[in-house]
Amino acid sequence: MTRLMLLIAAASTTTLIAADDTSQPSWPTDPQIQSMVQSVDHARIEADVRTLVDFGTRHTMSDTKSDTRGIGAARRWIKKQFEDISAANSNRLNIEFVGYLQQPDGRRITKPTEIINVVATLPGINPSDNRIYIISGHYDSICSDPKNADCDAPGAGDDASGVAAVLEAARAMSAYEFEATIVFMAVAGEEQGLYGSKFMAKKARDANRNIAAMFTNDIIGNSLSDRGHRERNRVRVFSHGVPIRETDEQADMRFRTGSENDSQSRQLARYIDTICDIYVPRFDVTLVYRIDRFLRGGDHKAYVLQGYPGVRFTEYHEDYRHQHQNVRVENGVQYGDLPEFVDFPYVADIARVNIASLASLARAPARPTNARVITAKLTTDTTLRWNANTESDLSGYEIYWRETTSPVWQHRASTTATEITLPISKDNYIFAVSATDKAGHRSDPVYPLPAKK
Ligand SMILES: [Zn+2]
Repeated sequence: MTRLMLLIAAASTTTLIAADDTSQPSWPTDPQIQSMVQSVDHARIEADVRTLVDFGTRHTMSDTKSDTRGIGAARRWIKKQFEDISAANSNRLNIEFVGYLQQPDGRRITKPTEIINVVATLPGINPSDNRIYIISGHYDSICSDPKNADCDAPGAGDDASGVAAVLEAARAMSAYEFEATIVFMAVAGEEQGLYGSKFMAKKARDANRNIAAMFTNDIIGNSLSDRGHRERNRVRVFSHGVPIRETDEQADMRFRTGSENDSQSRQLARYIDTICDIYVPRFDVTLVYRIDRFLRGGDHKAYVLQGYPGVRFTEYHEDYRHQHQNVRVENGVQYGDLPEFVDFPYVADIARVNIASLASLARAPARPTNARVITAKLTTDTTLRWNANTESDLSGYEIYWRETTSPVWQHRASTTATEITLPISKDNYIFAVSATDKAGHRSDPVYPLPAKK
């Protein structure tokens, strides 16, 4: 494919801008984000995973009184880690248990059970910025029988690895300032039906909270496939394309504009891929264009169902001998989700991608609002328009486009105006608009809808 070079006249500016090929990221790096990424320590992640495993089981219905075994001891320990992180950073984190009493559901909850999430909030420094970015893992675990709260369920990969990444993200980020609020979360009840995250997502929706993105890290520690292939340099990021709930009008507009590959979750996933190229260049994101693994689910789904953008990070190779298995040796094969099957430097790299992405988003302006493709008259040009952002450090906007068959953005242009006319046809390309600040942070881009003006 030939590289597209265009000269673009941005409305209300006289500057001519050459459109770049986006295959080589040229966004400026933020030295503080580089410091956050570099501070990640796989030895701390290993220590956290081993401590979580040592609680024997973290089954959602397991013992809550013991200080050494069960989910109660595990959540008190997680809370203590957040408290220590906060104490080391001028008490900047607000830490709380947030939960409810779940009644038996006829499925995987067989007795009244407290579902308690551990939530640490790093408030944004801009009080007028209501964006919230969530990084989450689930601290509950199960063995072969999902209803058995007594069996050993080490859950090293699923999902002590994700919780350890969340703790490490809190350590890496809590000394720094972000415009938006960041929430570090360890949830319960995932294995019983996403109960902890469903509760949090509904609570956020009921309070009309602006959750701008949610990342779940679930099973991020195994680097060796069951066929013996080692993959330490890529993580899968799952994102859905089509909303599960939309009005007839929204569905009609999606059908007629061909936007089935452009949900906000999908924009977020592509953004994470770009951020990985910049801040963790020896590592790679493999985008998977579906909500989760085939027929499976995770905590991001609870947020997506409430209309929030959410993605899932999961190791590239899973090995089912080490997930949801009673710890045992059978025909010489060790089963069970044990720490010896977790590759801690690999978890650390996935944590780095999370941290760079979260920090970039929370330091960037908000996504432009009311982005639209102007359809006042039939033309082979494409005019995009959007509302002005209000951030004081705003530098302008970036516009991305790609061919309809391309999975990722191919070209971009920038402008300080709130409108741009590109000499290419909206029939042949898909567009998006992002906001940029003076330090070079970019928002995740937003898909424009058709409008007359
Ligand atoms: Zn899991």
